[in-house]
Parts: sequence; C-alpha cells; structure tokens
Amino acid sequence: MRSAEVAGSRVEILVGDITVQDVDAIVNAANSSLLGGGGVDGAIHRAGGPKILEECRAIVARQGGCKAGEAVATTGGRLRARFVVHTVGPVWQGGLHREGAVLARCWTRSLDVAQARGCRTVAFPAISTGAYGYPMDAAARESLRAAGTWLRERPGEVDLIRVLLMKERDAEVWSQQIGHLLPPQGA
Ligand code: ADP
Repeated sequence: MRSAEVAGSRVEILVGDITVQDVDAIVNAANSSLLGGGGVDGAIHRAGGPKILEECRAIVARQGGCKAGEAVATTGGRLRARFVVHTVGPVWQGGLHREGAVLARCWTRSLDVAQARGCRTVAFPAISTGAYGYPMDAAARESLRAAGTWLRERPGEVDLIRVLLMKERDAEVWSQQIGHLLPPQGA
C-alpha cells in the first residue's frame, strides 16, 4: 500500500476489490443510463443487490440519467459501504476532447456528493480506465490532482480517500503519480 497525507486527510492506493471495502461510500464508474453495465459497475450491483438498481431507476425517472462528469448517490444495499456514489467518466477520445476536465469533475462531484451525505471515508476505482479506454497514467495524474485540490480546499472534511486498483501494475502507475496530490511547484 502507498499513502500520502494531504491537509490532514489520508490518500491510499491499494490493490483490491472496491465492493468489499469498509468505508462510508464507494464510487461507481457508471454509464449515463445508470442502469448497470460491466466492469466495476456490474461488480457493485452484483455485490450490493437489487436495491441499488431500484434507486438508480428512481433517479432516472426523476432526472433522466447522469451526464459525464456528474455524480448521484444511492444507498449501498447489501454492501458494507452505506452509500454508492455513481459517477459517469469520460470516454477516451485521444485526449483533446476535454476528457481530463471531465474526469477531474467526476472526482470533485463524487467527493461533494459523499460529503453532503456525511461520509468521511470514500473509496474510488480508476474511473474511465476500463471500457472507456482512458490511459492509466494520465487518469491517475488527473484524478489525484483533482482529489488533492478538493482536500486542500476543504481541510478536515474527509478523513480518507482510498483508490482501489485491480492489478499491482496499475497500483504502481498510480503510486508514481502520487506527487500530483500536491499543488504544482511555483503555484
Ligand atoms: P469505465 O467504463 O469507466 O472505464 P470500467 O468498470 O470498465 O469503467 O473500469 C474502470 C476500472 O475499474 C478499470 O481499471 C477496472 O480494472 C476496474 N475494476 C473493475 N472491477 C473492479 C472492482 N471490483 N474493484 C475495483 N476496480 C475494479
């Protein structure tokens, strides 16, 4: 495990399954229909049970899905986590279509939504790096930069952000980017 402190909060990078984390909220890399899919989305719905999909359907009926860069919350169903924050990452299109800004917004909005529900510990997957094709190193850089900025702007609001990767190699890539939690030099 690799970790860093940012403004009194802890950021951890580890290899593991997000669905078994004992945290207040886990973040789901959903798609804009909110009606379930493969990858981490499928794993969360399988582990959490039908209640989560039921709540997603109610959100869709109310607001018609979720746009890329936005986030909504349901309860955690059978998961240990009390909440699931569903966010929709950008589809990688080469990097010139504001993918970085949208991915950063996923992280910021997910933390906002979790904080609004009183969550102090939040686990994230590597949003957009599976079916959506975002390169792992660029995703790590953008995501950690957004997380670091959020934590510095709201010191003490969240105790822990844990990033779960499926492979050791992916955790190494994220660890190499951990310096991006801190502001750029000279800023
Ligand atoms: P996206 O459509 O946003 O790319 P995916 O679910 O396809 O979402 O993949 C996002 C990341 O989640 C990938 O790096 C994938 O390896 C990872 N992943 C898949 N299942 C799990 C899980 N159970 N726990 C943590 N990460 C997971």
